[in-house]
Amino acid sequence: MAVKQTAGRDALGQFAPKFAQLNDDVLFGEVWSREEALSLRDRSLVTVVSLMAQGLVDSSFQYHLTTAKQNGITRQEIAEILTHAAFYAGWPKAWAAFRMATAVWTEDGESDEKARHQQSMVFPIGAPNDGFAQYFVGQSYLQPLAAGPVGVYNVTFEPGCRNNWHIHQAQQGGGQMLLCVAGRGYYQEWGQPARELHPGDVVNIPTGVKHWHGAAPDSWFSHLALEVPGVNCSNEWLEPVSDEEYGKLK
Ligand code: MN
Repeated sequence: MAVKQTAGRDALGQFAPKFAQLNDDVLFGEVWSREEALSLRDRSLVTVVSLMAQGLVDSSFQYHLTTAKQNGITRQEIAEILTHAAFYAGWPKAWAAFRMATAVWTEDGESDEKARHQQSMVFPIGAPNDGFAQYFVGQSYLQPLAAGPVGVYNVTFEPGCRNNWHIHQAQQGGGQMLLCVAGRGYYQEWGQPARELHPGDVVNIPTGVKHWHGAAPDSWFSHLALEVPGVNCSNEWLEPVSDEEYGKLK
């Protein structure tokens, strides 16, 4: 996938159209876009170290630090990268780089694990799932993906988070389908062993079946939830999955 860049044309399209074209179309459009040769994350790592080694702490460095974060480099990793590079590029340059890196990696307070989970899937994590929080143990997030005849939501569970036992009720039709998109989780029907879930797994939950779904104890987990159309559909929320029962899972 080609990286879209317009910074060259935005800043210098009139003054230096050739430079702008080389910047946007060649450097970003071709070199940065060769993901089959080197991932965006790796290219960010090389770029950040190169700029830091020159002592650059201008807006381009700020841009590349932000891009590095978006490309999946975590707070721990950038700290390690700059510490390592300090021995080769120079101690004061690392100090200058850290001043900007701390701002980029802390400004939204988002955890590295959450960022890494987001990096592993194409659907947005979305907002804290406050509307249903009373039916969940732990923190979950919800992103509606489609309105219309079939409701589709991306539901994300932090490690250890799961929803209560519940039943999808309907007079006719109804039920729910889960399409697992990232991380590792579980689905369990009442009286049955829990089924471990991975990206690509599909769960068909018939109307009237008591069940729960959620993350593994040590992993983030996201699934798309599809509301199967039916007559007078409703959710019947029941008791939480006990720590004792959930604690049996790995
Ligand atoms: Mn369900």
